[in-house]
Amino acid sequence: MSKKISIVAPVYNEEKNIPLLAKEIEGVFSALPQYGYELIFVNDGSTDNSFLEIYNLSQRDSRVRGIDFSRNFGKEPATSAGCHHAQGDAVVTMDADLQHPPELIPKFLELWENGAEVVYTVRKENKGAGWFKKLSSKIFYWLFNRVSEVKTESGTTDFRLMDKKVIDIFRKFPERERMFRGMIDWMGYRRAKVEFVARERVNGIATYSYRKLFGLALNSLTSFSLLPLRMAGYLGIIITLISGLLLAAMLVTRWFIDPSMFTPIAILGVSNMFLIGIVLISLGFIALYIARIHGEVINRPLYIIRESVNIGE
Ligand code: UDP
Ligand code: MG
Repeated sequence: MSKKISIVAPVYNEEKNIPLLAKEIEGVFSALPQYGYELIFVNDGSTDNSFLEIYNLSQRDSRVRGIDFSRNFGKEPATSAGCHHAQGDAVVTMDADLQHPPELIPKFLELWENGAEVVYTVRKENKGAGWFKKLSSKIFYWLFNRVSEVKTESGTTDFRLMDKKVIDIFRKFPERERMFRGMIDWMGYRRAKVEFVARERVNGIATYSYRKLFGLALNSLTSFSLLPLRMAGYLGIIITLISGLLLAAMLVTRWFIDPSMFTPIAILGVSNMFLIGIVLISLGFIALYIARIHGEVINRPLYIIRESVNIGE
């Protein structure tokens, strides 16, 4: 039986791009007769006729499938939904705006056949992205790699191939605020890398606004690291130390050297700082407990087994 590949594309106002992508995918697979495929479009509450396009295509070609969200939930939930419904032996996720070149898919499949369980891509240059986007993505990756427990390369994209077993585990992840890329990276597995140059967006405009990107970045940081929580505590330690020393110095000077130095208000001010520091340290402690609760609540699997030998069910 020939292997089946699922292509998953989240769609938000891409009515013009949907038929183009479907055509390109068809072209790619007509040169790969040993594989069957399904193309799953997840319509993320588009305000144009995207779903009608998907529907019409699906009537003509049973390999095209569609999921229609009741409203805009965002690209991450849309990608997840596509993966949850994919039936292939491997899943390829890609943007619907043709920025992810379908002609790379044969290369993905080759790496996959040679044992890679995750094939990920790194974008070498992003045509059409402004300097601000480039800079903010650089900063994001730098920060992310500093504070989080999983590492990601700068420039990795959501254009990936994942083996069925990776997707099966992914289906079991219960967390709600999610970052698709980070979760797949967290899972490990044998990985292979492909570099590419992103094409320009064909039709329409990039809808990932800075506000949404910022939200996504915050989510990624908080779901992979607890550093923001601990910050308050660190700040408290610094404030307590500095104001504690200052207070001691002020009191010693007043008692032993010159009783007229420092007004009572100044001493009051510094004592206040000292107390604020102590309050912040307590916040830091609370953060440590919240961190444990957070760890339990996101409920990731403790470990992932690739396969085992001679171990009964
Ligand atoms: N997208 C989505 N929901 C949204 C925004 C975007 O499903 O709320 C889809 C969009 O249709 C495209 C992909 O996510 O297939 C990437 O979006 P976009 O091209 O706007 O972002 P960028 O290329 O800047 O990452
Ligand atoms: Mg795009």
